[in-house]
Amino acid sequence: IVRIEHLNKSFDATQVLKDVNINVWPGEVVVVLGPSGSGKSTMLRCINLLETPTAGHILIEDQEITGKSNADVNKLRRDVGMVFQGFNLFPHLTAKQNVMIGQTKVLKKSKEEAEAEAMKQLTAVGLADRADFKPAQLSGGQQQRVAIARAVAMHPDVLLFDEPTSALDPELVRGVLDVMRDLAENSGMTMIVVTHEMGFARDVADRVVFMEEGVVVEQGLPEDVFDRPKNARTAEFLGSIK
Ligand code: ATP
Ligand code: MG
Repeated sequence: IVRIEHLNKSFDATQVLKDVNINVWPGEVVVVLGPSGSGKSTMLRCINLLETPTAGHILIEDQEITGKSNADVNKLRRDVGMVFQGFNLFPHLTAKQNVMIGQTKVLKKSKEEAEAEAMKQLTAVGLADRADFKPAQLSGGQQQRVAIARAVAMHPDVLLFDEPTSALDPELVRGVLDVMRDLAENSGMTMIVVTHEMGFARDVADRVVFMEEGVVVEQGLPEDVFDRPKNARTAEFLGSIK
């Protein structure tokens, strides 16, 4: 569903991504691991065209997304959902309005349709009773679950997560991971997840990709990468965070 081919990205003289090749199949959950600065966020940002690749191709549903005009970019962005470390909710809108706004503005759904979908997705993340609360009245974990509901309500082809739990207090991490696990296992959502949550990676990922210094060093089944890393750098990284 997502094909990343020979992706390169440089900022000035610094090459941040070096010939990255990753294929993601429909319904697959790919977890991306790697040390700080290895290029994980930059790769996600290339997939939703927040960054323009320096070279290489990215295809979504067999459609080339690289090198498109602005109008096409806007359409393609609808097909890619993103959940960030910070929750990026509109502070003046309620949870329900936050989940509705993309549906009405971008997908041009009616208010009734958008509201029904918003309540469905808020229920799925366990927040139906918080629908009329504003972000400031919600915990960080609840805000992140609203952000996930908002992304899912757009029915993207693929949902990208960039360290969705790393800004949360430890006791709130679990609820967000449970929502992500439920999405992966019960909705068949295609997901690319950058996280340091090794338990999630091991249990939920169909495949783990280890990146370092802009290079995909190793990828494979979680049990292979975790228990039998082929690469010395992967082993060292996994050892350092256990
Ligand atoms: P972390 O785990 O800390 O989030 P990361 O793997 O997500 O790290 P990136 O944020 O992708 O890493 O950054 C990779 C490299 O690219 C870093 O060296 C960073 O300084 C550089 N970089 C990222 N964005 C820019 C930018 N807009 N301009 C210049 N350099 C950038
Ligand atoms: Mg990052």
